[in-house]
Amino acid sequence: MSRLPIRRAAAEASIELQGRPLGYLLKRSSARRTLALRVTEAGAVQVNAPLALPHGRIEAFLLRHAGWLIEQLARRTVAHTWQSGMELPYLGGVLHLDIHEGVEGQALCREGDRLCCPARLANPAVAVTAWYRRQAADLLGTRLAALCRGQGRIEPPWRLSNARSRWGSLSVKGVVGLSWRLIKASPAEIDYVICHELAHFRRRDHSAAFWREVERLCPGYATVRARLRENGHRYLQF
Ligand SMILES: [Zn+2]
Repeated sequence: MSRLPIRRAAAEASIELQGRPLGYLLKRSSARRTLALRVTEAGAVQVNAPLALPHGRIEAFLLRHAGWLIEQLARRTVAHTWQSGMELPYLGGVLHLDIHEGVEGQALCREGDRLCCPARLANPAVAVTAWYRRQAADLLGTRLAALCRGQGRIEPPWRLSNARSRWGSLSVKGVVGLSWRLIKASPAEIDYVICHELAHFRRRDHSAAFWREVERLCPGYATVRARLRENGHRYLQF
């Protein structure tokens, strides 16, 4: 008995995802019937595909999984960079992580643009994330209160969320949710997200009337919104 030999082909390919080129290894095989997507520990992307599948189908598959892919890549990047000098986006600028001996206590402290982390802390990722959440609870709350005051409205209840897929939300009960990761964005971007959610009190949809309300609460929001879209992936790395 002889079987048809399995034919294989491998090639580097590239696709634009959320405005950035992403290189990947495309491995085709006559033995495959389905598409598979894999991100290695080192952050390399590999697609396994049937030998003759049209390239358009492969690209559509990648676009469909873009959100997952970007999150996986962000995780891998960060896993390899929790060390002194790491740049941490914060309020539109950057803090530099400074892990060193001799820092008293267990807490992180900020000195100018340095975020000092005691070396004895086993996991800087956990400590930094906790620090960011505390800052977010404080600063986002302050901004929400100030914007409501400025708009002459009663401040709605709000909560800090862990969402990666959206910066803000408004629950049916009228509770504003703000992702703690928003604290990495610039003050203008933060204000836009808060105003966006406040505008939902008047319009729950994303109709033209809703966007007029956003413009009323946050004049010139369109530029800021575009910037947030462009920068957003940087704020999701941890
Ligand atoms: Zn919305």
